[in-house]
Amino acid sequence: MRAEGIATVRRILCVFPRYTSSFGTFEYAYPLTDGVQAFMPPQGLLLIAAYLPANWPVRFIDENIRPATPEDFQWAEAVLVSGMHIQRQQMNDICRRAHAFDLAVAIGGPSVSACPDYYPSFDYIHVGELGDATDDLIARLARDPARPAQQVVLKTAERVAMTDFPIPAYELAEVKKYFLGSIQYSSGCPYQCEFCDIPGLYGRNPRLKSPQQITAELDRLLECGVTGSVYFVDDNFIGNRKAALDLLPHLVEWQKKTGYVMRLACEATLNIAKRPEILERMREAFFVTIFCGIETPDPDALKAMQKDHNMMVPILEGVRTINSYGMEVVSGIIMGLDTDKPETGDALLAFVDESRIPLLTINLLQALPQTPLWDRLARENRLIEDDSRDSNVDFLLPYDQVVNSWKKCMEVAFAPEKLYARYQHQVDYTYANRLKLPVTSEQKSWANIRRGLIMLRNIFWKIGVLGDYRKVFWKFALPRLRHGDIEGLISVAMIAHHLIMFARLASVGHHNASNYSIRLREASVPAE
Ligand code: SF4
Repeated sequence: MRAEGIATVRRILCVFPRYTSSFGTFEYAYPLTDGVQAFMPPQGLLLIAAYLPANWPVRFIDENIRPATPEDFQWAEAVLVSGMHIQRQQMNDICRRAHAFDLAVAIGGPSVSACPDYYPSFDYIHVGELGDATDDLIARLARDPARPAQQVVLKTAERVAMTDFPIPAYELAEVKKYFLGSIQYSSGCPYQCEFCDIPGLYGRNPRLKSPQQITAELDRLLECGVTGSVYFVDDNFIGNRKAALDLLPHLVEWQKKTGYVMRLACEATLNIAKRPEILERMREAFFVTIFCGIETPDPDALKAMQKDHNMMVPILEGVRTINSYGMEVVSGIIMGLDTDKPETGDALLAFVDESRIPLLTINLLQALPQTPLWDRLARENRLIEDDSRDSNVDFLLPYDQVVNSWKKCMEVAFAPEKLYARYQHQVDYTYANRLKLPVTSEQKSWANIRRGLIMLRNIFWKIGVLGDYRKVFWKFALPRLRHGDIEGLISVAMIAHHLIMFARLASVGHHNASNYSIRLREASVPAE
């Protein structure tokens, strides 16, 4: 479905802002690839691009790949921007640049929907999801693309059903320059974890696309050249378990039809470990990674943050169960909780060792607007606006103690020996449980072989020869090479390199301790 009935033609420039360097965007892995420059194609902006009237020319620029140029702004009649809180500074900068060309600029997406006040200079503020506010914005731009005299706020009251969503305009993005492909099946989550803004922004009753939409999107991604990993950006893949079960057979069939050309990943609550019927089908659909917000191994802390559902299965048992279906667990961890004690850091490191999870995003607690945590801390007068801090929360433990504990955890957890030992465990006890797939024609293609050779050359040279942890690397790499597991070697080496590099700099204070920190630094990923 697209906006219809608009005869006037407008040229629209969609600009996605650079992101501030963060643990979860893997930029230290990019130089090891064959030209990756950005993390994932942005679903929201590509969806809006696809929804615009069919006769409106659209240019999409991801400033993580290249900056919007004066020529882009001169071409456009209006500019659309979307992003997350962490991109706030960059979004305001795009607005400033567009205004230099006297263009009207509209902003939508999760950050402005939660905090319209962050964006005082924009001409149009789009609050909420795709819906009547979007139609209103399109109609206004069609009538008059000039900047309005004052800011106009449009709020979605009636959302477009996800079953009517068009396929995001993947063809406008340079998909091969992304680390991962992205796709979305559902929106919203039934739980209410205290720190999370998803239920407030997108609701507790997950909304859904149809399985046929998803397979059509996968077809489109494939046509656009995406092979490799595709991430379901759903807030919780099992937010509606029946819907997940409805989708999975379609994914299995699609993978069989296309020769398992994609490795799938998603986010889901840890209680997925109680659902063998889902896990078995995910294995068949070649899901290889699940991001679980474990947050903390401390049961009291989980209770306090209303994340009791993480305790439906003992955490380590849950991780092992997921691993037994061939899926690696990636874990979100939060430090700085009210329940933290001086020994929390050591307990976390013990958990890292025991769980053998290689990739954990360890963040300091940050209160996001529109969350129960924000409301509670505001009542307790514990929200701090100070850009020099790594968190806006007044922790119960001394601030320096919490930050130092975080730095130590980063340093120890991602020391090369420890990280590669956890990956070796995954090779032996997780990856070994994956489907054994025949080599596909896509894998045998010259383009794929060339890509692999470029990545291997980069990895061997930058890590195996020049790297200061090369001994650890070769101890892992040689058996992989003997087994002919080139793909596994490349994927572990790239991710591990990012984690090691990021953690080293983080442990000496060069990276933020929160992915959501208001400490807005210059984006460190060059946009050229
Ligand atoms: S389960 Fe995840 S998505 Fe759902 S409310 Fe909790 S943190 Fe948010």
